[in-house]
Amino acid sequence: MKVKMILPALAEAESPFWRPIKYSLFPPLGLATLAAYLAPDDEVDLQDQHVEKLNLNDNPDLVVIQVYITNAYRAYRIAEHYKKKGAYVVLGGLHVTSLPDEAMQYADSIFMGPGEETFPQFLQDFRNKQPKKIYFSKIRTLDKIPPIRRDLIKRNRYLVPNSIVVTRGCPHHCDFCYKDAFFEGGKSFYTQVVDDALAEIDRLPGRHLYFLDDHLLGNAKFAASLFEGMKGMNRVFQGAATVDSILRGDLIEKAAEAGLRSLFVGFETLSPANLVQSNKKQNLKKDYTEAINRLHSLGIMINGSFVFGLDDDDPDVFKRTVDWGVNNAITTSTYHILTPYPGTKLFQDMHEQGRILTRQWDKYDTRTVVYKTTKLTAEELKYGYDWAYKEFYSWQNIFKASMLHESHKHKLKHLFYSGGWKKFEPVWNFLIKTKSLNNILPVLESILSKVRYINNDNALAKELQIVK
Ligand code: SF4
Repeated sequence: MKVKMILPALAEAESPFWRPIKYSLFPPLGLATLAAYLAPDDEVDLQDQHVEKLNLNDNPDLVVIQVYITNAYRAYRIAEHYKKKGAYVVLGGLHVTSLPDEAMQYADSIFMGPGEETFPQFLQDFRNKQPKKIYFSKIRTLDKIPPIRRDLIKRNRYLVPNSIVVTRGCPHHCDFCYKDAFFEGGKSFYTQVVDDALAEIDRLPGRHLYFLDDHLLGNAKFAASLFEGMKGMNRVFQGAATVDSILRGDLIEKAAEAGLRSLFVGFETLSPANLVQSNKKQNLKKDYTEAINRLHSLGIMINGSFVFGLDDDDPDVFKRTVDWGVNNAITTSTYHILTPYPGTKLFQDMHEQGRILTRQWDKYDTRTVVYKTTKLTAEELKYGYDWAYKEFYSWQNIFKASMLHESHKHKLKHLFYSGGWKKFEPVWNFLIKTKSLNNILPVLESILSKVRYINNDNALAKELQIVK
C-alpha cells in the first residue's frame, strides 16, 4: 500500500513576518509515530510543508493529514485534491478533535484525540475494507508503542531533529489550552514506560535532545526515574515545565544533573486576577522570582511564555512584562496574543459573552486579535505585542539581561543563545536554503554545556571550556 503523510504549513509560516527558522525547528513527530504502525512493505512518504515543497502529483492509496487550527483550510484543500484522485483521506489532530463536524466534510475518516490506539485499529479496518467514519480515542496508553519511524524524517532540514515526547498531555487544566479538548473522554495525562523512553533516547544520535512534552516534570515519579536513567548518557536537553514543579522537591536538581540546560516556563501573566480568570491555579501564589533563581543557580536558561490580552491587562502590561523578563534575566521570551481556540473553555465563555469576532481559523495564530478585548483596545493589544518582541530582543536588553548572571559562562551563553536566535536571520536562512541546519547542532550543544559556578574572574578561561 502507498501511504502519504502530510503536515501542511501553518498559515503564519507564510506571513511577511515569518521567520523561516521558527518553522524548521522540529520534525513532524506525531506522523512519524503513527507511521510506525504501518506494515513493513507499505511505501510511506512523509512530507512536512514547512521545510519542503509538497509533491501533490503522486497517487497514494491512503493519505493521512495532520490538522492544526491555522493549517486547517490548507489541509482541507489537500484532502479534496487527493479525494478527487481516488485516495482514501483521513484527518486527525487538535483542530479535527475540536471541530469534528467541520473536518468530516473533507475526510473519509477522522481521528479524535491521540492516535496510538485508533490508528492501528483503522489500518486493520481499512485493509478489511470496512473503515469507520470516526475513530474516537478511549484507551490511553503508551505501553508497547513501536519505535518512531525516524527514518522518514529529513534530519538535515531541522534545527532540532532529536525532538522527543515521552508523556502525553498535562495534569493541569488552563482555560485557554487545547489540552482538555484533545484528551476529552479519557486520561488527559499519561507517560511512557521509563525503559521505553530511555531506549528511544538511546536511539538518537549526538548529545542534544528537545523534549516536546507539555510538562516534562508533570509526573514526578516518572521524571525522577527518567533523569536517573539519563545520568550516564552524556546528554544536554531542553524541555518545558510549570512554575510549581520547579519549586517543589528536588526534581529540578535531578533534571539538571541529567543534562537539563534550558526550560520553557509558562509564566503567562504577572496578574493574579488573570491567573484566576484562566484557571491557571498552579501559578497562583507561586514566587516566580524564586523559581527563576533556582533555575539560574543550576545553570538552566529560561524561555518564558507570556500571554497578552487577558481581561486584567491594561496598556502598561507590555512594558511591565518586558521589564520583568529583562530584570529577571530570562534568556528568551515567547509572547502570545490571547487566542480562544475552539473546544476550549475560553472559547465557550467568550462565545456566550458574544466576544468572538471571527471564526476564520487561519487568524487564530496568536498574533492576531480575534475577540473583543476589555481594558485594552484591539489596536493597543496588537501594537503592544509587536512592541514587546522588539523591545525584549533589542541588543540593549539582550546585553542587560545577559550581564545579570553570576557566572561569566552563563552571561555568554545567554548572549549567544538569545542574540543568535533573534539577530542572525540571514545565517539561519542560509542554513535552511542549503539544507544544512543540523550542522549547527555542535554549536547549540556547546551553548547548552554545563555552567560551572566559579566566582573568580581569573577562572573565565576555564569556564569557557565545554564541559564534556
Ligand atoms: S500547564 Fe500548559 S499544557 Fe498544561 S493545561 Fe496549562 S497551558 Fe496547557
